[in-house]
Amino acid sequence: MATVALKDVSKVFPNGTLAVDNVNLDVNDGEFMVLLGPSGCGKSTVLRMVAGLEDPTSGAVMIDGEYANDLTPRDRGIAMVFQDFALYPHMTVENNIGFPLKLAGMESTPREERVANVAGALGIGDVLGRRPSQLSGGQRQRVAMGRAIVRRPRLFLMDEPLSNLDSGLRAELRAEISGLTRELGVTTLYVTHDQAEALTMADRVAIMRKGVLQDVGTPTQVYGRPATLYVAAFLGSPKMNLLEASVYVHLDRYVALNLGEQSLYLPWDDIRSRTVAHYHGERIVVGMRAEALTPVAPDAPGDVLQGRIRFLEHHGHESLAFLDVGATAVVVDEMGGPVGDTGTGSRGLRRGLGHVVQRLTGRSGEA
Ligand code: ATP
Repeated sequence: MATVALKDVSKVFPNGTLAVDNVNLDVNDGEFMVLLGPSGCGKSTVLRMVAGLEDPTSGAVMIDGEYANDLTPRDRGIAMVFQDFALYPHMTVENNIGFPLKLAGMESTPREERVANVAGALGIGDVLGRRPSQLSGGQRQRVAMGRAIVRRPRLFLMDEPLSNLDSGLRAELRAEISGLTRELGVTTLYVTHDQAEALTMADRVAIMRKGVLQDVGTPTQVYGRPATLYVAAFLGSPKMNLLEASVYVHLDRYVALNLGEQSLYLPWDDIRSRTVAHYHGERIVVGMRAEALTPVAPDAPGDVLQGRIRFLEHHGHESLAFLDVGATAVVVDEMGGPVGDTGTGSRGLRRGLGHVVQRLTGRSGEA
């Protein structure tokens, strides 16, 4: 088991590309940390620097508290799994998995035993005699995992290991990989551009953009309380509602978010409302997830925002209504909406249960 710490790590490639820009990140012992971001944001470069395949231009990579910049990849106690599996085609599954042990000089009997254990844990115990060409994509990926696990590394590094698989298999292996690494207790750094993968597998997610680390937190934290407008706009489907509002606090009664012609009233006795309360008198951007607003009939009693439906989208498990509330575009989940409504015309909106209101700053223009 191991910790990883990146301290002010930057990487500039010889062609002048600033791929990683002053990243600070701590990965805890036994933690499953996912690096998430769009293509080209620098996540693979971070991983490669931890692996020792790329040297940082500046800053320190620490593994288990030890300065690791000068360690060879071999001396770092890591195992890597890539998207292209990279199995030896001429070797059987058994020899592919056992190869790192053979390199390390382990005798054949204990080696076979270890390989059989790992293959059993991965559900590929019955294909040990086959060659990679005789395996399905999912089986090949399990063999690649097996080869990584078999050496009992202190750190797993995985770069989009599931991206070459079809979606059903990806979902299955997602659960398997995160389950397995937790069972083994091995610290894991996992790179993906797939949000679903990140949010379902991670203990914590680190979100990158253009070489810069934007946010680090548990899936619930980064989804519900994104640190920046960029993360708010990047994570989740549908996107988080971003409302420009003036805050008005009626002490001990309610917090009003003034959206122009209309206001959304949040109850004072709800602790979640108070995250914006101290911006009283200021104009801020507030983030609210679709599920944080409940659609009701336009003439419903009480304080109700009036929205005009632009269009509806049916997804099976949810029905999204895209609305204009004044000049602001808002999306809500219609499932809890007025029963029997045809879904046209207008809609009232109320603060939902479990609403999260977040003040968002920075990078709005870039989001
Ligand atoms: P992807 O998901 O597409 O692999 P990524 O987020 O992993 O993307 P990186 O591969 O880390 O991104 O690349 C970050 C930036 O650095 C990109 O602009 C890329 O073009 C550039 N880059 C990567 N490797 C090199 C290299 N060897 N020389 C020059 N530029 C590079």
